[in-house]
Amino acid sequence: KYFNQIEDMKGKIRVYCRVRPLSGSEKERGCDNVTNITDEYTIVVKNPQGVSGVQADGNRAYTYDRCFGPDSTQRQVFGETEHIIQSALDGYNCSIFAYGQTGSGKTYTMIGPEDDEHQGIARRAIKRLFELVDRVKAKQQTSFEISCNMMELYNDQLVDLFADESSYTDDGKLKKLDIKKNYSGMVFVANAVEKVAETPQQLFDFMNFGFESRHVASTLMNAESSRSHLVFSIMIRAKNLKTGNTAVGKLSIVDLAGSERVGKSGVSGDQLREAMNINQSLSSLGAVISALTKGEAHIPYRNNKLTMLMSDSIGGNAKTLMFVNISPADYNSEETHISLAYASRVK
Ligand code: ADP
Ligand code: MG
Repeated sequence: KYFNQIEDMKGKIRVYCRVRPLSGSEKERGCDNVTNITDEYTIVVKNPQGVSGVQADGNRAYTYDRCFGPDSTQRQVFGETEHIIQSALDGYNCSIFAYGQTGSGKTYTMIGPEDDEHQGIARRAIKRLFELVDRVKAKQQTSFEISCNMMELYNDQLVDLFADESSYTDDGKLKKLDIKKNYSGMVFVANAVEKVAETPQQLFDFMNFGFESRHVASTLMNAESSRSHLVFSIMIRAKNLKTGNTAVGKLSIVDLAGSERVGKSGVSGDQLREAMNINQSLSSLGAVISALTKGEAHIPYRNNKLTMLMSDSIGGNAKTLMFVNISPADYNSEETHISLAYASRVK
């Protein structure tokens, strides 16, 4: 089953849709759920306004590789995701994105709370990765090095969330973060700090440290963390000690900035600049995936820092999974349609 899933994924981009439950306060306010998962691939949304392709009964159906309803558990969602961890260990570049408006469940899906039952993909992936590593080690003489870095992209500027003394020049300036490719085509960020983890706990600790610095950075900049993209990458370097063969894989977990359109009136200055930058990177991402899906010769990776950073992990041999997270609530239905349409376009 594992191998079939992996073969299926090769070079492909999968799109999963996940609907969060109505929140307590939404229920109290009497909000309606306008979504319905009719089978594991199909979501139907009620009463779309001003959206093309509406069916006679006023509903619109969208299909994806998988749809998860409000009752789906973190364990179920990970169950459909975990094959990617094996691929990263086998030397593939893999990426998991979460796309959707703020409050739709992106961070819940990707990171989630810390407890065993509710933890999201990142924590489960880390545990699984170390389990798989131990399994390989028990069978053959292989050494592994697992390392990670964490970047934030805010207003078209990269921020290294692991920055330390080594990130500064002798005269106290931050060194320039440049997106580069190494000899084997792997993207890396020059001058970004990469941390090596020996245990899953260490990797959790690095991840939490990164979230903490993100929180501090966004408070300092007086910005919401939902206005930046987060890219957490785990690198896996394997060496077969008998043959000397090496494999390098990467798993990137990307919690995208909120996709909601910012109201045209009353928005200016910093907020407008933020909104324009987010819009630009999300549409560049859409354009890259859509060009890949159509099999076009030119893939416009260089249009944006987000797509440059992810260029080794979308297309080619890479395996990409995108979650489109949506809210079920009636008052969000317009954003819901826009998100679902974006996710359909990239298919
Ligand atoms: P986003 O990152 O897209 O802004 P969050 O992940 O922060 O959204 O989710 C918004 C709120 O909804 C949070 O309080 C989160 O705990 C809750 N939530 C999101 N998805 C789910 C889910 N599948 N089950 C239960 N609660 C969820
Ligand atoms: Mg979030």
